[in-house]
Amino acid sequence: MTTTMRKDWDTYFMDIAYMVSTRSRCPRRHVGALLVQGKKLLGTAYNGAPMGVPDCSEAGCMIAEQYEKVIVDGSEQMVKKQRCIRTIHAEQNLLLFTDRNDREGSTVYVTDQPCWTCANMLANSGVVEIVYHRPYKKDSDKVAAMMEHKGIVFRQLQHYHPPAESVMDEVRE
Ligand SMILES: [Zn+2]
Ligand SMILES: [Zn+2]
Repeated sequence: MTTTMRKDWDTYFMDIAYMVSTRSRCPRRHVGALLVQGKKLLGTAYNGAPMGVPDCSEAGCMIAEQYEKVIVDGSEQMVKKQRCIRTIHAEQNLLLFTDRNDREGSTVYVTDQPCWTCANMLANSGVVEIVYHRPYKKDSDKVAAMMEHKGIVFRQLQHYHPPAESVMDEVRE
């Protein structure tokens, strides 16, 4: 990209979401989310422990193991996955720190495709569009179906490249 080329709005806001994600202290996953109305940024959030409570960098991740259905070479398999449950997800923090009035008709930019719980909450939050970058496979069919049912625009930025300094070395599934 040359210096004279302006960033489009999707790139501009997704870059900010990635910069916000660097605030996360969970070593397993850094997620950033923004609330945008028109071209105006109304809120930012990342995944983290509740305020005043030791976070993953201090107390370690709180790992929950669960079996999840995944498709491997076209067939369903149950695979044991580890997830950190210490943090409030970025999307949920965004909902905790923004007003319903601001959310009505707004767009959420989020670095990662929302999980089922976050998608469920976003679907009831007043936002009309969700833009994400990295795919998150778990429940993604269910999430897409619900967004369609709710008439929420749900789109992935496919050709986007985040600022290198904002991406953690390794995202653990
Ligand atoms: Zn963690
Ligand atoms: Zn989530």
